[in-house]
Amino acid sequence: MARRQPAMLRGRTRLGGVRRADSSPAVRGSCVAAAGAIALTLLAGCSLGREETATDPASDALDARLAETFRIDVSELDVTYDFWPRGSRIRGSAVLRFKMRPGQTRPLFHFNPIRHAAGPERAMLRSLELDGEPLDPLDEEDLRRVRPLRSGEPAFEVQRELAPSDAHTLRASWSIPTRDLRAPPGQFYTNFDDTIGPKNETEAWWPTISSPEELARHRIHLRVHGDRRYTVLGSGVIRRRDAAGVQAWDLDTERPVASHTVMFAAVPSDQVRTAQFDASGVEVRIVSDRSPAIMKRARAITRRTIARLLDDFGPFPMPSMQILLTGWGGGMEYYGATRTGIGALEHELVHMYFGTATVNRTWRDIWFDEAVVEWWQRRDRLAPLRPGFKSDIVGGRSVVQPGFDEAAYGNGARIFGEIARALGGNREMIAFLADLHRRRAFEPFTTDDFIDDVVAAQSKIDRAELERWLFATR
Ligand SMILES: [Zn+2]
Repeated sequence: MARRQPAMLRGRTRLGGVRRADSSPAVRGSCVAAAGAIALTLLAGCSLGREETATDPASDALDARLAETFRIDVSELDVTYDFWPRGSRIRGSAVLRFKMRPGQTRPLFHFNPIRHAAGPERAMLRSLELDGEPLDPLDEEDLRRVRPLRSGEPAFEVQRELAPSDAHTLRASWSIPTRDLRAPPGQFYTNFDDTIGPKNETEAWWPTISSPEELARHRIHLRVHGDRRYTVLGSGVIRRRDAAGVQAWDLDTERPVASHTVMFAAVPSDQVRTAQFDASGVEVRIVSDRSPAIMKRARAITRRTIARLLDDFGPFPMPSMQILLTGWGGGMEYYGATRTGIGALEHELVHMYFGTATVNRTWRDIWFDEAVVEWWQRRDRLAPLRPGFKSDIVGGRSVVQPGFDEAAYGNGARIFGEIARALGGNREMIAFLADLHRRRAFEPFTTDDFIDDVVAAQSKIDRAELERWLFATR
């Protein structure tokens, strides 16, 4: 995502089968409050976990910590929405396929409509079923609201013991008020963004578990009821399937991707312009309510940036590039898609390689892609780190609490500048990142895995120094 000026607004979102690189040597760090009230609020849940002690647990301790927090490993999500543009509610249904993570037996998931199930006006959940058995969300024998992290998001624990090796199916149907879309009137878009943290839960779109390493194949079906024509764009392959007078589309990511990287948007066709073109062999679509002059600029930025990215990092990692160009000051990246203002467009395009193709195992590791993107964009203008620099960009955050340290955009990018100098220059850094992308795309990794890569690639910066830059508390 990109910073919004002058105020900052960010968010991201992700989910899917758990992929892990077993090479991560150790995950350590302690929860140290950074300056600032926002950081303190976000860090308030940090004193709970084993990983937040001053000890050096091995990577299996991280696996265990993630397993006990997130419990389920999702492989597929199939979601259907019925949208009446002039109606007051949207209907949804979802099928979530998952296995239990090692050592876990009671499934846990997040889903906002259940939180409101007790309110008559917002009785949003219509049905819930696990492996064919109907569950009553208001009966504590079936479902309990739990809070795995103090001050974290509430989650729902199904009161059933599940066999760890079997595949399971959770089905849910619900309706939500159209106003909860938080979209302009008549528009529909997913806003699945976990990085903004527990005060702004956005898991209204499908039941999930908010772990960034979860990769699942997503299929989303949208049916728009009414005469007004719609334009649909989003992550993956979109096919139109109108039937019986209803406009309908199917989106398929066709591969496991993180849920927080999935975008799906429908906008009235009479509100937007659409440009479709080829950029160095990549199919691009821009849908926008901006002026023709801004559309023209967006085409030029997209063509130029994609050409540079292909040169630097290799084949485009998604089937196409779909851009919902808005009047925002910032932007948000998704798998093969972005919702962005013109000023952040280049930034979000770079995220197609870093942040949506490469994803991280834990929340605190997601400083990585913002630092890469900012370095790539500003590499000739970045100030060096001051001598003796240290920070807790990574070590100061929890591995399980959504969010990341926004110092990633500044000091994070400068850390990449230092690594570039140690490697021999920007050209060498781009080769290093291209190799990292090739090896680690869709294989979630930790900051420790990244440090391993940096230590193996050069000899000027040692592990202790890298840890001082990122885990000052180690
Ligand atoms: Zn970004």
